[in-house]
Amino acid sequence: MPETFAQRLRNVMDDRGFKQVDLINAAAARGEKLGKSQLSQYVSGKTVPRPAAAELLASLLGVPAPWLADGDGPAASTPTASASAPIATALARPVRATARPATASPSPIKPATVRSDHMRQFKKSSKLDNVLYDVRGPVVDEAARMEAEGQRILKLNIGNPAPFGFRTPDEVVQDMRQQLTECEGYSDSRGLFSARKAIMQYSQILGLPNVTMEDIYTGNGVSELINLCMQAILDNGDEILIPAPDYPLWTACATLAGGTPVHYICDEQAEWNPDIADIRAKITPRTKAIVIINPNNPTGAVYSREVLAEIVEVAREHQLMILSDEIYDRLVMDGLTHTSIASMAPDLFCITFSGLSKSHMIAGYRIGWMILSGNKRCARDLILGINMLSNMRLCSNVPAQSIVQTALWGHQSVRDYIVPGGRVFEQRECVYEGLNAIDGISAAKPHGAFYIFPKIDVKKFGITDDEQFALDLLHDKHVLIVPGKGFNWPHPDHFRVVYLPRRRVLRECMEDIAEFLETYRQN
Ligand code: PLP
Repeated sequence: MPETFAQRLRNVMDDRGFKQVDLINAAAARGEKLGKSQLSQYVSGKTVPRPAAAELLASLLGVPAPWLADGDGPAASTPTASASAPIATALARPVRATARPATASPSPIKPATVRSDHMRQFKKSSKLDNVLYDVRGPVVDEAARMEAEGQRILKLNIGNPAPFGFRTPDEVVQDMRQQLTECEGYSDSRGLFSARKAIMQYSQILGLPNVTMEDIYTGNGVSELINLCMQAILDNGDEILIPAPDYPLWTACATLAGGTPVHYICDEQAEWNPDIADIRAKITPRTKAIVIINPNNPTGAVYSREVLAEIVEVAREHQLMILSDEIYDRLVMDGLTHTSIASMAPDLFCITFSGLSKSHMIAGYRIGWMILSGNKRCARDLILGINMLSNMRLCSNVPAQSIVQTALWGHQSVRDYIVPGGRVFEQRECVYEGLNAIDGISAAKPHGAFYIFPKIDVKKFGITDDEQFALDLLHDKHVLIVPGKGFNWPHPDHFRVVYLPRRRVLRECMEDIAEFLETYRQN
C-alpha cells in the first residue's frame, strides 16, 4: 500500500516530536494562516491540502515539498532558513522515511524564499484605483467566458470596423506592402516627413491656424496621444472638463495623470449638445482645459458652428486650452458638415486629434495624430514637455505612417458608406428605428460616427444597475452592449450600441432586445 499524505505528515511530526499546536504556532510566527481544524483534517487524512498549504507544512517541518505532497524524492532535506525556533531545534533529528529510505538529498533544497506561498504579492499601483475603462470591462470578461464555453455572442461593444466586413481600401494595403522594407528603422519621433506633410495639408483644408510641420505628431492611434497629452498637461489636482457621456479613455488618462476630470453634461433633449451653462458652472481656478469629442462617441452628436462658437467663447473667457477629439470627422451624415473647433480659435492654444482607425477602417494599423494650433506662444513650456514625451516613446508605428498620405488623399471609400444606400447610413436608420420601436426605449438620432446611446425607461423595468442590465441581456440573448456607466454617465438609464453589423444582424438583435424587455424587471 503506498503511503498517504496523512501518514507521511504524522510520521514526520512524530519523528520531530511536533504536536499540531506547534505547527499552528510556527505558521503564525511566520505570518501564515494554518487553521486548527484544517490541520487536524490533514493529519487524520480526511482532506489533502492544496499545493500552497502542503508547501507551508513541508517548509515548517523542514522536508522537501514533493516528498511530503506525493512521496516523490528523498525525505531528508537541508533545514529551511525560515523554520521557526521549536521547529528548527527539532530539525537536528533525522527524518524517518517509511516509504523510501532517507538518503542524502542529491541537490540541496532551495531556501523557502523562492516558494510561491512566501512570494510577496504584487498589486496594481494606486494610481489605477480610480481608473475606469469598461468598454472592455467586466461585462466583456463575462462575454469572453461565455465564448470560451462555445456560446456565440453578438459584440456591439466596440467600434472596430474590420470584424464587421469593413475592409481596408486595397490601395492602402498595396502601398504599405510596397514600403515595408523601408520602414524598418525608427522614424523622427513626431513621424515621417511624408506623413506629417499629408496631415499638415489636411489641417490646411480644415482651416487650422498657425500649424507648421513641427506641430504635427503621429501616434500609435489617437489613444497613445491622449495619454501623452494628459501626462504632459496635468499636474496633480489640475481640473479638466470632459463631456458626460464621454469616450472613457479621456477620463481614464486624465485620472492616471493625476488630474481631476470634471464632467460637463451633454443634453439628450438638445440632441446631446454640450450644456454650456453646465460647462460654465463647473469652471474653477484649477480648470486648465476643455475636451470636446466631435463627432461624439457614444452619442453620435455632431456640433454646429454655433455650439462650437459658444465653447470657444467660454474657453476664451477663462483662458482654457481646447482639446478636440475628431477621430470621426469624416463619418458625418444627413448633409451636415463637420467643423474643426481649432479653426475658430486662432487666439487660443488648441490640440486636434484624429487618425485612420475609423474613417479608413484600419483600427488595427494603429495610426493617429495630433495637431497643435493657434496661440502656441502661451504653451511654449508645455510643448517642450510634449516633445520630451514624444521622444521618450521613440516614434509611432512606421509602416502605418507610410500610408497616411495614400489614405488621406486617395479615394475616400468612407463617403460611400455615409450616404443613403451606404452601409453606415442604412445601419444607422435600422438601429434608430428598431430601438425607438421598442416600448420603454428612446434614442436621439446620431448624425456621426457609428454609435447610438439609447435611453431606457428605468421605472418601467425597475433598473437601478445598468451593468446588471447589460449582464442580464448578455446571458439571455447573447448580445453584448456597454452600459452607460462605462461612459461616465451618472445615471443607470443608458447603454451604447455599435451599429457596425449588417442590417439583417441588427434587425435580429433589435428583436432580441425587444423580446428580452417584454418580461425584464430588475427590481
Ligand atoms: N477617440 C474616440 C472618440 C474614440 O472613439 C476612439 C476609439 O474608439 C479613439 C479616440 C481611439 O482611437 P485610436 O484607434 O486612434 O486609438
